[in-house]
Amino acid sequence: RPSFLPFRLEDTYARAVPALSLAWSAAPVPAPRLLALDEGLAGELGLDPAWLRSPDGVALLAGQVPDGVTTVAQAYAGHQFGGYSPRLGDGRALLLGELVDASGTRRDLHLKGSGRTPFARGGDGKAAVGPMLREHLVSVAMHALGIPTTRALAVVATGETVLRETPLPGAILARVAASHLRVGTFQYAAASGDPALLRSLADYAIARHHPAAAEADEPYLELFRRVALAQAELVAQWSLVGFVHGVMNTDNMTISGETIDYGPCAFLDAYDPATVYSSIDSGGRYAFGNQPAAAQWNLARLGETLIPLIGDGADGAVESATAVLHEFAERYDQAFVEGMADKLGLDESALGDGVDETVRELVRDLLALLQTNGVDWTSFFRALSARTADGHFLDATDFHAWVARRDALLPQDRAAVAARMDAVNPVYVPRNHRVEEALARATAGDLGPFERLLGAVSSPYADRPGLEDLRGPAPAGAPRHITYC
Ligand code: AMP
Ligand code: MG
Ligand code: MG
Repeated sequence: RPSFLPFRLEDTYARAVPALSLAWSAAPVPAPRLLALDEGLAGELGLDPAWLRSPDGVALLAGQVPDGVTTVAQAYAGHQFGGYSPRLGDGRALLLGELVDASGTRRDLHLKGSGRTPFARGGDGKAAVGPMLREHLVSVAMHALGIPTTRALAVVATGETVLRETPLPGAILARVAASHLRVGTFQYAAASGDPALLRSLADYAIARHHPAAAEADEPYLELFRRVALAQAELVAQWSLVGFVHGVMNTDNMTISGETIDYGPCAFLDAYDPATVYSSIDSGGRYAFGNQPAAAQWNLARLGETLIPLIGDGADGAVESATAVLHEFAERYDQAFVEGMADKLGLDESALGDGVDETVRELVRDLLALLQTNGVDWTSFFRALSARTADGHFLDATDFHAWVARRDALLPQDRAAVAARMDAVNPVYVPRNHRVEEALARATAGDLGPFERLLGAVSSPYADRPGLEDLRGPAPAGAPRHITYC
């Protein structure tokens, strides 16, 4: 373990709401070895990558902290697939502390896979190399796509074997997040029966994530509104890029508006709102097309916790909170349509009056065509800008009619349109079959395919030679992709 840290770890959360965390230490790690380090992120955080690669740095990334540094497991509750669990919490995770960068931004440095905690219930507290590298890869991809997300600073192999269906090499992920406050944190505080705890949590969340809410007439209603709108924008971005989170439980929805918990997530190949990848989501609760509704359901649970604080529980709090849920739906819809207009190369200035309805119809009809024809979501938009999208349809007659309608709305300069489209439509996303392949090889000890895929998705918009195999969907006839938590 390092004898000192060359940077400061703060503990404002543990001090502000002590009832919401438990001091706890990481399990010892027999043979830590760095598998992945995001040097760019280290730089943003003001951390020295060379130190992080040193034995002391790797020990820290495996949870071994100097004497005097207190690490904590955070408490939270949550609705999992609609069923309420009063006590989830960090079963296999620890908050190392908060880092404040040169610009004053405060972020959590957190570990996943660092051993059992008092919240572990039946779990072993461990994580395997494959899922931790998956979280690293997908969070790099999401960040590169401009989507708010927790980040992955590092993955350290522990040298231990963890038992799943088969024995697997163990790993710890070092995660960086605006914070780990979740809807489930509010549910836990609300259920504690201590109104002062709930208020302290809400005040902390306002100060850390939505400071403008403090100026509003009803700060707690405004907090709710800002969380809801951040989630509306976030889930719209998931829809635009074809991301299926897979486990949108209330403990996996942040107050900051960052995507969190890359367990059973996946990216769409063929466009279909009913798409589900997770082995445990048999009812399709978190199907691709249900994500906005699932987010709104989670936000309703957040709103319920805040009712006692809104106007000190005065009449009208429920109505005001309900209005926020409507605002969520409107904002989601607007963000999605605007994002689709960008993906289609439509320029608002060239559209004139009546934009909204025209674009909405164009988008609706396109989605129907893509679904009927099983068209690959990601590659379609690049093909559209290259005018080669015909190949995505067996019979392109209806598609041609659609293209004519869309072309009528385009500005004159078609080269500029294509350039704008290619700047928002990625070539490379973490394709499920490629992710599986790379993780299987990494688990067997070969990081080559993982690093190659990581390189592709960290620069998603620039088509590059030599990466052709990472562009397309799984070959037709491949078995349906299934993900596991
Ligand atoms: P998740 O589905 O990943 O959001 O996790 C839900 C809950 O299960 C959280 O409280 C996790 O800390 C806990 N959990 C997941 N895996 C393990 C594990 N291997 N050991 C202990 N707790 C776990
Ligand atoms: Mg989780
Ligand atoms: Mg998880």
